[in-house]
Amino acid sequence: MKPSAQPVLRDLVLVGGGHSHVGVLRMFAMKPEPGLRITVICTDIDTPYSGMLPGYISGHYSFDEVHIDLGRLCAFAGARLYHDAVVGIDRQNQKIICQNRPPVAYDLLSINIGSTPQVRHVEGAQSLAVPVKPIAQFNQRWLALMDKARQWPVHRGRMTIAVVGAGAGGIELVLSMQYRLRHELKALGRSPEDLKFVLLTSGDTILPTHNPGVRKRFAQVLQERNVEVHTSAEVIQVSPGCLHTRDGRTFDADETMWVTQAGGPAWLQSTGLALDKQGCILVHPQLQTLNDPLVFAAGDIASFVERPLEKAGVFAVRMAKPLAENLRRSLRGQKLLAYDPQRHWLALISTGNRFAVASRGSLGFAGAWVWRWKDRIDREFMRRFTEFPSMPGAGSPGQAGAQVREAVQAMGQLLKDIQAQGKGHTTQLNLTSEESLQAISAIAMRCGGCGAKVGASILSRALGQLQPVERPDVLIGLHSPDDAAVVRVPAGMAVVQTVDFFRAFIDDPYVFGKVAANHALGDIFAMGGEPQTATAVVTVPPGLESKVEDLLTQMMGGAIEVLNAAGCALVGGHTGEGAELALGFAINGLIDEKMHSVMRKGGMQPGDVLLLTKPIGTGTLFAAHARYAAKGRWIDAALKSMVLSNQSGAEILRTHGATACTDLTGFGLLGHLVEMTRPSGVDAELTMSTLPLLDGAVDCVQAGIVSSLQPANVRLRRALRNADEFLGDPRYPLLFDPQTAGGLLASVPAAQAGACVQALKAAGYVHTAIIGRITAQSQAIEPVLLKT
Ligand SMILES: Cc1cc2nc3c(=O)[nH]c(=O)nc-3n(C[C@H](O)[C@H](O)[C@H](O)COP(=O)(O)OP(=O)(O)OC[C@H]3O[C@@H](n4cnc5c(N)ncnc54)[C@H](O)[C@@H]3O)c2cc1C
Repeated sequence: MKPSAQPVLRDLVLVGGGHSHVGVLRMFAMKPEPGLRITVICTDIDTPYSGMLPGYISGHYSFDEVHIDLGRLCAFAGARLYHDAVVGIDRQNQKIICQNRPPVAYDLLSINIGSTPQVRHVEGAQSLAVPVKPIAQFNQRWLALMDKARQWPVHRGRMTIAVVGAGAGGIELVLSMQYRLRHELKALGRSPEDLKFVLLTSGDTILPTHNPGVRKRFAQVLQERNVEVHTSAEVIQVSPGCLHTRDGRTFDADETMWVTQAGGPAWLQSTGLALDKQGCILVHPQLQTLNDPLVFAAGDIASFVERPLEKAGVFAVRMAKPLAENLRRSLRGQKLLAYDPQRHWLALISTGNRFAVASRGSLGFAGAWVWRWKDRIDREFMRRFTEFPSMPGAGSPGQAGAQVREAVQAMGQLLKDIQAQGKGHTTQLNLTSEESLQAISAIAMRCGGCGAKVGASILSRALGQLQPVERPDVLIGLHSPDDAAVVRVPAGMAVVQTVDFFRAFIDDPYVFGKVAANHALGDIFAMGGEPQTATAVVTVPPGLESKVEDLLTQMMGGAIEVLNAAGCALVGGHTGEGAELALGFAINGLIDEKMHSVMRKGGMQPGDVLLLTKPIGTGTLFAAHARYAAKGRWIDAALKSMVLSNQSGAEILRTHGATACTDLTGFGLLGHLVEMTRPSGVDAELTMSTLPLLDGAVDCVQAGIVSSLQPANVRLRRALRNADEFLGDPRYPLLFDPQTAGGLLASVPAAQAGACVQALKAAGYVHTAIIGRITAQSQAIEPVLLKT
């Protein structure tokens, strides 16, 4: 999502996109807290709903039906989504340590990261067994297991699949895997009897937390389905193809799935949070941790001090409401409420074949109708996270006006709240008097139209953390700041200059910083130049000093990573306040003054082939994102493509004799192609079926969603000789789709094309494709001919 129009006063960070946090997001979406920014940090964009997981394994549901799209949910909730793994918490400085980005600051933190079977305590289990959690990783292993079963050579005899753990999760897993794999083998004309299933548990019974009737029912089902059950079989070692139990027995196992009692991840140990024996976070009935009032936890990872709770999705779901309420109350400085989990709860446990058993306290009943009932409940639950009111015409003048009015109203309310707080009210975010003053001034500036410079202390603190790459040709740069930078141009070199600047299109300053820098560098690479120095122009919306500083640190941190990787020294810049976050760079590059290595737009030769190094579709995807219409994983993949540098791509193209090159940006594929054919005096053929496309790009244009720049680009259709023949082609609108940090479009001699594509793919441009060829200029006015 785009950054919010209101100043950020408090940061609530949700670590993990589990069942509790998706509920919290929905509740804050329905009732936003003015001035509150929510950030979700999660290792997975698609978060699995555990209730439907066995149905997915059985093949009754598709991947999308059982996953909540965190990208869309966060867009709907106006929350930021950081796709990353949390590996630590610096509680003293209120920062979350992530695997792949700078620390993320929080005012209030909530953890809902699920639990993991404790494989690390059993010899060999970590490397040889498949833990069922995290569920998202399990999915990859499950898909691999299906392949293995399909390809299992008959001469090896039966393939044995063992499940360790006979709680509800283990039993559902063994039955749903068996159902699915037997069907898979049957479909291949093989005998389902080629598979053997074994269930082991250290306990003396299956389903220890359920009533005897339910246990008996499942014992019968397992027997009827030929699943071998071994109780009092505590697995203490896993070796290739074999499980060893404490009492000396061994069991064959070609694949082992681990569904035993779960605990917390190792990284929690170093946080100093109070943990239980399994490494889960101890929480009060208010879901607040025992030793840090700023940290809450819910779901499997929370260990309820009042009484032990089963690690079940049903509790994680139920905790969402009290958690959201207490997070709100904590932010407002109000008294927290205690959560009293139900003592008896309904478990609907499926048998894989569209049949389920209901278990509640001493009650139990079963039938196909129970499965249908469960199916209805589960689908209803999922609908709450998949169906949002749409945002028609995002970017249209009418909607922009409405958004501005809404923002002004919200800011007015926020201002009233903050002023009321000064009079002793506590109905809003609990700010210190200094923060209230800063907030009032920030709101006044936003409403009045800003334009001032950012405070020197904020700037020096934020920029002081940057470490630009050092270059001997930078005589005066950020390391010894002055009125301007002084840079030497080495003998025999000429300067190649470019500038780019744009508004933030995502609410993730770190990734935005990376994209903006990468986009700006693209022009230098496309020319065959070597980036030398960059100066930045930054616009940040006014806000609390700490938030502005954090924003700058994150954004410039992302940018500097990209600039440093390109050997480009950041030597200066200007930061001002403005209505929207925006970032641009003026970049100087070096090129030999005889211009031998220059790749211009005008060198295309008939007979060359046309290469594109990255897929297209960023314009439509981000327009769809603004309307919650793009899947989170599409946006995630598009961002990954946007931060992929064109540096080595340009070098590979140059060494393979590229005759012309440009980087794809706002004019779209066709616009840039025409910019090349015209000065080259050639025509081009574009083969539609070979165009590399970002996932979801066709879906978005087919839904009629295009970027606001598209109409201007479409005017160029007059450059197409046979546009009429392709109007119905779903890929046609993407010819005009504006790109941000797009790939390189180049013409390469046909003889070099194969090797060039191979080298580009090996260098990480895996979507590189030959998308057409260059022909001699014809009599036709239109230079581009589309081919199927
Ligand atoms: C096969 C099987 C079937 C089950 N069926 C049922 C059922 O029918 N009903 C039921 O009530 N329970 C069921 N359960 C139990 C249920 O899966 C868990 O109790 C439930 O998933 C816990 O939810 P949660 O919200 O705590 O965490 P999760 O649903 O596990 O979500 C955790 C989230 O945190 C993210 N995450 C993890 N680590 C990090 C990190 N370091 N940084 C950032 N993000 C992170 C993950 O990507 C994930 O999005 C089943 C379990 C299994 C194994």
